[in-house]
Amino acid sequence: TQGSAQRIEIDNVSLRYFTRQAEILALSGISLSIEPGEFVSLIGQSGCGKSTLLSIIAGILPPSDGEVRVGGRRVTAPSPRIGYMLQQDYLFEWRTILDNALLGAEIQKRDMNEARDRAVRLLEKCGMGNFLDQYPRALSGGMRQRVALARTLTTNPDVVLLDEPFSALDSQTRLAIADEVVDVLRSEGKSVVLVTHDIGEAISMTDRVVVLSRRPGRIKSQHAISFPSVAGRRPTPFEARGLPEFNAYFNTLWDELDVHVEG
Ligand code: ADP
Ligand code: MG
Repeated sequence: TQGSAQRIEIDNVSLRYFTRQAEILALSGISLSIEPGEFVSLIGQSGCGKSTLLSIIAGILPPSDGEVRVGGRRVTAPSPRIGYMLQQDYLFEWRTILDNALLGAEIQKRDMNEARDRAVRLLEKCGMGNFLDQYPRALSGGMRQRVALARTLTTNPDVVLLDEPFSALDSQTRLAIADEVVDVLRSEGKSVVLVTHDIGEAISMTDRVVVLSRRPGRIKSQHAISFPSVAGRRPTPFEARGLPEFNAYFNTLWDELDVHVEG
């Protein structure tokens, strides 16, 4: 039954890339379990293997060792159970916003009436309800990413993988879109893995931050994130950034990441 949140189990995964000159160990012995409905972020320095790990979970890249299971079933190929949203939005300029959101459903040969209802509802939820018949060129970068998110969710995958979805956006847009994205993903109840190099994004948006070491990527540490409730509910990412707990987590993760400036 597709569409219900599923556990993601990453079991002792390693990955070697082979180039003509060398063998590169990109990931080594990664084991991680993400609970149904949990929202986890993966942070680490550029080149530590974050995108590689997402591609393995997505079934695009077979691991050299170990395996990934979603809902107890081994991942061996890309599947409609797994939604994958990339840094670039890959919208088709000649398709309307609604038709762009329907692309995945079309490729998967879904019931298109059902998909259309879902796409419209998701686009409305992402604040794009007034743009259904417009073309991507009319949209800002933040709006394009909202459409890409709606498209990823329209096929109702069990798990959602997001690879630096905000990295092309300016800082104000990032803050605004983070609130909406979290709202949509949590209300859909998906298991989510968000890759980001932004510590603040990881802390403010997710339930658990997993830190990868430099290459070969290994799990360096994990941090459960919780904030006191604001007006009886979980604080939004924007609100979370204003809480004292945010600074405490930030300092801890900053030390963990061990960022150096060259020179
Ligand atoms: P991140 O997303 O954390 O920046 P990547 O997963 O993209 O890191 O890459 C991890 C490491 O593997 C990097 O050192 C990168 O150069 C290397 N790598 C990535 N893709 C390939 C490839 N197709 N062939 C060889 N090496 C690769
Ligand atoms: Mg990457």
